[in-house]
Amino acid sequence: MKVEANGCVIELVQGDITDEETDAIVNAANTGLAGGSGVDGAIHNAGGPEIMAECRNIGNCPTGEAVITTGGRLKARRVIHTVGPIYRGGTHNEAALLASAYRKSLELALSERLKSVSFPSISTGAYGYPKKEAAEIALKTVLKFLAATPGSGLKLVRFVLFSDTDLKVYSETLAHLR
Ligand code: ADP
Repeated sequence: MKVEANGCVIELVQGDITDEETDAIVNAANTGLAGGSGVDGAIHNAGGPEIMAECRNIGNCPTGEAVITTGGRLKARRVIHTVGPIYRGGTHNEAALLASAYRKSLELALSERLKSVSFPSISTGAYGYPKKEAAEIALKTVLKFLAATPGSGLKLVRFVLFSDTDLKVYSETLAHLR
């Protein structure tokens, strides 16, 4: 599924984010930038040790914030590492923190003059965020950001969903938001 919003394309696809050729891919990292399971492990495996070396230099990243490193051996030249919230019932500021993770990642993409960026479904794996709620926050945050930054140079925001089911959830959500 593909829609246009304020001069930028938002695209939803199923796949492995480490194969993406966008200017940057976003990593669902942890606050220690220490690597881990899921998409984080896949990115470090595919991108090689240069990414972790830069992560060590940066040190850490608070929940809801984002930092940027090289893409190492990835096709994407850069990796934006952001930290989504661990879901604890929805009453611990999770929604605002998840929105912030997307927004700060997009702000970094703009300040680095990137034209295309791919996101995974942040917080919905090991961090347990319910998929439908997370999809709504992710897509609303991107739409709001694009509306607030017309002519920014960002031409493509792609969501790379790992499973068929996730792609369906995101597609239905985007269809309702449009
Ligand atoms: P978090 O700790 O933020 O929940 P996870 O990596 O555990 O992060 O999961 C986030 C999402 O990324 C999940 O929906 C998971 O299925 C998905 N995922 C895992 N590996 C990949 C990959 N290689 N490409 C894209 N998405 C992936």
